[in-house]
Amino acid sequence: IANTMAQMLVPQAQFKLVMVGDGGVGKTTFVKRHLTGEFEKRYIATLGVEVRPLDFTTNPLGVVRFNVWDTAGQEKLGGLRDGYYINGQCGIIMFDVTSRISYKNVPTWHKDLTRVCENIPICLVGNKVDAAERAVKPKMVQFHCKKNIQYYEISAKSNYNFERPFLYLIRKLTGQTNLTLASQIALQPATEQVDMRRQAQNEAMIEQENAAMSCAFPDAETKEN
Ligand code: GDP
Ligand code: MG
Repeated sequence: IANTMAQMLVPQAQFKLVMVGDGGVGKTTFVKRHLTGEFEKRYIATLGVEVRPLDFTTNPLGVVRFNVWDTAGQEKLGGLRDGYYINGQCGIIMFDVTSRISYKNVPTWHKDLTRVCENIPICLVGNKVDAAERAVKPKMVQFHCKKNIQYYEISAKSNYNFERPFLYLIRKLTGQTNLTLASQIALQPATEQVDMRRQAQNEAMIEQENAAMSCAFPDAETKEN
């Protein structure tokens, strides 16, 4: 524990990560899964933003910290102010697989993010894959192919694929394509479960559809890990 504490205090690299997506898709739920980030969060009152330092111990780089920016709900009223995006070094765009409108709004979030943060690594995530009723069908998920960004299916409440977006972003940001996570991340216990058989079928469908568009899903780099 002493060693972990020391590492937490001295991250080898830090990045501002901007979370975007419609209200209700699960952004706050997702970022709260990581227990140490929850413990050290800060509130920026002037912007109405919560910043959580999420640490990941990697091989070979040591501790990489994401300072994750999450709104206090302003996205429900429309776009976010530039101050939210400024100096963003990477981003996660989230939609909810049970909400078509949240997927339809992904291009707008992407435009808002990239207008201020040009050329940053971005990961698209479809959340709530634990839900029985899926509204965004696997073959509908194609936005990432056009924009050359990564896509993962996740379920915040079951911790399914929690670390994938972060691992992808760390690899992009550091250029270390073989980097791995060195230890288990302390997460809140799962309160939902993903039907793994159904999920494997869904992901196979996405992979097939994306392959037809010459778009790798999941990315070749993390597939084996
Ligand atoms: P935000 O507005 O994007 O920050 O979304 P919240 O994190 O506030 O979540 C909105 C709602 O979705 C809440 O009722 C959450 O409990 C629910 N939710 C979040 N993640 C998941 C998930 O992975 N699965 C399911 N079934 N519900 C989720
Ligand atoms: Mg929120």
